[in-house]
Amino acid sequence: ASKDCVKVAVRVRPFNKRERDAGSRCIISMTSNNISIQDPRNPQNSRAFTFDYTYWSHSGFSRNKDGLFVPEETGGRYADQASVFLDLGQGILDNALQGYNATLLAYGQTGSGKSYSMVGYGPNKGLIPTLCERLFQSIRSMQDSRQCQVFFSMLEIYNEQVVDLLSKTSRSVSGLRVREDQQRGFYVEGLRRVPCDSAVQVEQLMDQGTRTRTTAATHMNANSSRSHMLIIIQLKQIFSKECITKQSNIYLVDLAGSERQRSSGSEADRLKEGTAINLSLTTLGNVISALADMTLGKKVVHIPYRDSVLTKLLQSALGGNSRTVMIATLSPADICYEESLSTLRYAERAKRIQNKAVVNESPTE
Ligand code: ADP
Ligand code: MG
Repeated sequence: ASKDCVKVAVRVRPFNKRERDAGSRCIISMTSNNISIQDPRNPQNSRAFTFDYTYWSHSGFSRNKDGLFVPEETGGRYADQASVFLDLGQGILDNALQGYNATLLAYGQTGSGKSYSMVGYGPNKGLIPTLCERLFQSIRSMQDSRQCQVFFSMLEIYNEQVVDLLSKTSRSVSGLRVREDQQRGFYVEGLRRVPCDSAVQVEQLMDQGTRTRTTAATHMNANSSRSHMLIIIQLKQIFSKECITKQSNIYLVDLAGSERQRSSGSEADRLKEGTAINLSLTTLGNVISALADMTLGKKVVHIPYRDSVLTKLLQSALGGNSRTVMIATLSPADICYEESLSTLRYAERAKRIQNKAVVNESPTE
């Protein structure tokens, strides 16, 4: 098994309308892989962090009075979806094709760019659709005799309940069960796995899943930024000449907003939702901290994977058999200082997690 750390990327988005209207100041700066954040109330006070990848997507390009494209602000070039894919998505895909499990997690406060990076909007396709396009391109252009099968699943974790976003049956059934198996580890029982052979088909499934997620949220009078979305792509490669089968799971996770949950709805709803949603996100934080401490040589007796649905399903991604990447997304604005600093601290801890990935191969049955 190769021992390698979770790779962490940070991406800062442009100001949104609210921030522009508030006359926000940018408090984030990046030079190569270093990022620093300034305390708006105490500008002398800044904190610096180093990550594996940093993406400056704050300043775009606009036309100046001579009609030329110039950066809107000095100090950076807009990192677009293609460059993020090249660093992060391609690596995930290459690992999966080699037979490794691979995981990509997006972490950050609501509105910071998690879904933009993972899924994308309109023509600005994010990591997931591009990864699927390239996956099927790679399969089509394979020169050897291997046979490939791709299965697609999509689920949501809300209030510690697992909802199958591709289920064809009534959604009123109260969630699927997470079970444990000696070989497979934790898995969702009865989750729909759709065999796919094109990126178009995957895109249709993602649209379907996204619609289900939105209507479900409306139905429950809930906010989808409080749920976790997980896409699981299973790749099976059968090498008939060698009589070997390789299997890899790709987990693509758009986490719930990391901001401290604020009250909404009735007291009872708020309590139910607050505790449960915090449970998955808080447990994720605890698992990451414990694993980071372990790397630092501290004595850790227990990694609380079993304390939440999310951490059960991500067990192999965190400290186990997977190559894992986290993208932490940030607002550039002074008004988001506290949340951005907490995201950076979280990401710094995630960087210390050591995984032990192996190629999953076995004799073809
Ligand atoms: P989240 O999923 O974290 O709640 P979104 O991804 O939906 O946030 O992003 C919020 C808004 O910011 C969207 O309108 C999105 O288009 C915009 N945005 C986010 N990241 C970027 C980026 N890197 N470049 C341009 N616009 C972005
Ligand atoms: Mg989102």
